Amino acid sequence: MALDSKIPEGSISDKWTNYKNHINLVNPANKRNLDVIVVGTGLAGGSAAATLAELGYNVKAFCFQDSPRRAHSIAAQGGINAAKNYQGDGDSTFRLFYDTVKGGDYRAREANVHRLAEVSTNIIDQCVAQGVPFAREYGGLLDNRSFGGTLVSRTFYAKGQTGQQLLLGAYSAMNRQIGRGKIKMHNRHEMLDLVIVDGKARGIIARDLVSGKIERHSAHAVVIASGGYGNVFFLSTNAMGSNVTAAWKIHKRGAFFANPCYTQIHPTCIPVSGDHQAKLTLMSESLRNDGRIWVPAKVEDAKAIREGKLKPTQIAEADRDYFLERRYPAFGNLVPRDIASRAAKERCDAGHGVNKTGEAVYLDFAAAIQRYGVDQARLKHLDENDSATVIKLGTEVVANKYGNLFQMYEKIVDEDPYTTPMMIYPAVHYTMGGTWVDYNLQTTIPGCFSIGESNFSDHGANRLGASALMQGLADGYFVLPYTIGDYLAPDIKMGTISTDLPEFEEAEKNVVAQIEALMNNGGSKPADYFHKKLGKIMWDKVGMARNEKGLLEAQAEIAQIREDFYKEVKIPGTANGFNPELAKALRVADFLELGELFAKDALHRNESCGGHFREEYQTPEGEAQRDDENFAYVAAWEYKGNPSDAVLHKEELKFENVKLVQRSYK
Ligand SMILES: Cc1cc2nc3c(=O)[nH]c(=O)nc-3n(C[C@H](O)[C@H](O)[C@H](O)COP(=O)(O)OP(=O)(O)OC[C@H]3O[C@@H](n4cnc5c(N)ncnc54)[C@H](O)[C@@H]3O)c2cc1C
Repeated sequence: MALDSKIPEGSISDKWTNYKNHINLVNPANKRNLDVIVVGTGLAGGSAAATLAELGYNVKAFCFQDSPRRAHSIAAQGGINAAKNYQGDGDSTFRLFYDTVKGGDYRAREANVHRLAEVSTNIIDQCVAQGVPFAREYGGLLDNRSFGGTLVSRTFYAKGQTGQQLLLGAYSAMNRQIGRGKIKMHNRHEMLDLVIVDGKARGIIARDLVSGKIERHSAHAVVIASGGYGNVFFLSTNAMGSNVTAAWKIHKRGAFFANPCYTQIHPTCIPVSGDHQAKLTLMSESLRNDGRIWVPAKVEDAKAIREGKLKPTQIAEADRDYFLERRYPAFGNLVPRDIASRAAKERCDAGHGVNKTGEAVYLDFAAAIQRYGVDQARLKHLDENDSATVIKLGTEVVANKYGNLFQMYEKIVDEDPYTTPMMIYPAVHYTMGGTWVDYNLQTTIPGCFSIGESNFSDHGANRLGASALMQGLADGYFVLPYTIGDYLAPDIKMGTISTDLPEFEEAEKNVVAQIEALMNNGGSKPADYFHKKLGKIMWDKVGMARNEKGLLEAQAEIAQIREDFYKEVKIPGTANGFNPELAKALRVADFLELGELFAKDALHRNESCGGHFREEYQTPEGEAQRDDENFAYVAAWEYKGNPSDAVLHKEELKFENVKLVQRSYK
């Protein structure tokens, strides 16, 4: 099957406008004849469901939590980008577009990224109108801060709770439609299969997680907004429930899966503390606006710190290595995440790590506290040479900006980050890969769309900070509502789709059979046992640095774990009721297939780009070495019965508006 990305004609800045001017529209009276299923009600699905219902479609929305309010999106901390240029620092639609393509190491589709930059400004207006309390400057205007990979301040934020506030906005918009009956909300439901009728997505099979009932739901189109799959690593900053099942099920039904190996390892997370852990915690990238990252320059100092004989505050300035500022003077601590993560790993591998396991670097706010303190002392006509006053005032400023993040750190680590530097280390955070979609956000299955983190979309091989919220809301509020109308226009007279069709019966039978097989397995090990094993292989061999040998081993080992899983997994309780172990096992089963495809994708990509770092392909300075001649394409995998048999399709990428050069942040 040939991949058609359906990019509209015209210059890059006219494509989206041209597209909107020429697509099919559904008149308002006909929208009420059309049903749309939205799987997932995080920022992407929530904004899509609310907007589609507002337009008049009948929406059936699903989430596995007890409320849309608990989607993983609620955890987003740092902010959301938009090319508003409120700071007058030279920002523009083109710059946001350019930064995103470059940040993604030139592995994203130009037309989509430009559209994203265009609609970014509308998102902020929409959210402000909903009452999202973005941070404001003293004069009342919306404030901005900087995120990695940019030289401007374009990130809008609500303290360290941006995702929460944005989700409350989308959720209130949804609630209005739930009240009107335009959205039928199915909380605590998990989609377990897609139903295809005459080649088009026409419904889903879902399990009611409370009663255990298997249900059929039909619609004229299905939208997948099920988030990312970082939990394939077991340990990640994602919510514990985040999983790949919805995306994987549509993959098995014909949706190509693109760039599965592009994973973002975030540099500023609280380091792993032991084997007992099931979750990692992010310290927002916004902290890199003010925090300086360093390690002791001398290996013996690092060793003394690890042994508890020395404190970081005792290391003299001259004996500190601010390695990001040293290596990347232009962007300093605000280099993109892939680069910051690798640099931290490089220092730790060289023996400079500062926690017990040697896998941590410092994020230090002493300089920021001092700088803000002096500034405040001057403004308040206080003595700027009085160090106690300066530290008190500076601490207040830092607390105002990042207070909740500091509090979170102190609660977890039991150290005061105002007086001693935080310890951080890279951790799995976001997946740039996902279901392949064309310009319409439609997968390779007609009528099945994918939005937000679940699609492969706009971030290439590395996502810039604060761009996921932007993309999820762009997809849901401003892109899908147009593109899905174009698709649905011919269906206005079709009427409701029956769930008695044989295709629904067949899909339901499949789901029931899988559940029965798992329940009757009679093994002895919980699903988590296999998930942990998978995660360890993923981290060790498919993680921050990958090589051919490790990837070959990983594929074989994951296939073996999968085999063991089906022999040995044990699920207590019954399928006819609330059974979190069953829900977990169903998700782990899909992770075990995805993991293998992930390694296969990483193995075939004989280059390093963004978050995909193949040790064989690096510059003498240890930077990622892209191979544009052979790999400037999206790898879209077609399911053929087994991850190892997946067939590769290539979407060649054209760069007509940004120059294809090796990335530099020096
Ligand atoms: C700790 C943390 C902080 C972050 N901070 C930022 C930030 O500051 N800025 C930024 O831009 N990005 C940030 N990100 C990334 C960003 O939060 C996510 O990419 C984004 O929220 C994903 O939104 P989504 O709507 O695509 O998916 P999610 O919010 O993950 O929602 C997924 C939805 O799908 C549902 N679902 C999944 N599977 C099924 C199924 N089988 N059946 C039914 N329902 C299903 C879930 O119930 C949920 O409703 C952060 C990520 C993390 C982990």
